[in-house]
Amino acid sequence: MNKTVLITGASGGIGKALCKQFAKEGCNVVIHYFSSEEKAQALKAELESTYNIKAITFKADMRDSQQIKSFAEAALKEFGSIDVLINNAGVAYFSLFQLSDDRKVADLFDINLMSAMTLTKEILPSMINKHRGRIINISSMWGISGASCEVHYSASKAALIGFTKALAKEVGPSGITVNCIAPGFIDTEMNSCLDEESVKEIVDATPMGRKGTGDDVASLAVYLSKDEAGFITGQTISVDGGFLGN
Ligand code: NAP
Repeated sequence: MNKTVLITGASGGIGKALCKQFAKEGCNVVIHYFSSEEKAQALKAELESTYNIKAITFKADMRDSQQIKSFAEAALKEFGSIDVLINNAGVAYFSLFQLSDDRKVADLFDINLMSAMTLTKEILPSMINKHRGRIINISSMWGISGASCEVHYSASKAALIGFTKALAKEVGPSGITVNCIAPGFIDTEMNSCLDEESVKEIVDATPMGRKGTGDDVASLAVYLSKDEAGFITGQTISVDGGFLGN
């Protein structure tokens, strides 16, 4: 594909799979991380040695808009432009709604929603200049259907869907597509707090009868970034093994 792809939360499970699949396609990769520096550095080394592409790592706390702006500026300086932006960084928060912690809720909205908007705002002008670009937001099946005890998470992911639809209309005339991927249960660190029984219940309720993988999500992101996907925009596409059945 010969593109430059910026992936936030690239140190996590889905982010790592995204990096690998884009690198395999011959893309240069901007690996964003926050606390997992070792994972990010190991990934950079693996991508560069396996796929012969250029990968750079950047640290930024997605709760801090100044850090996001500096990160975007540094990435643009390094590569000149970003062809594909994937807003993937995110956190889960399990709590009964009425017992939720205000600080954690504010952090969740900053990381899951505001960071995607701030980073997109910074990267967009370079895409508009080239009259080309792909923006992919990683939402969740809970952003479509809502989940009990994950009300704030569900609301943040639903807002990403609204952001996607509206921005797609605004930037379509500039040759840029904006889409959402709504994963179901994906086997990553984010779900490590769930006990075996809860995981089994989810798998049993999934028509495809298995947990999802980062690669399941990454394959769709790669497709959405290709030239042949240029007429798909404003969409939210589920990668959930049929869980929601929508
Ligand atoms: P993960 O393995 O826990 O990775 C989360 C990523 O977010 C990490 O790279 C982490 O960076 C980054 N992050 C967390 N807090 C941050 C902060 N304050 N600033 C910057 N980055 C921060 O989770 P995942 O499963 O890959 O999830 C990726 C995306 O998919 C998320 O948006 C999630 O909501 C969504 N999703 C996941 C599932 C699932 O079942 N796993 C389902 C639906 C949607 P560091 O580790 O470097 O701090």
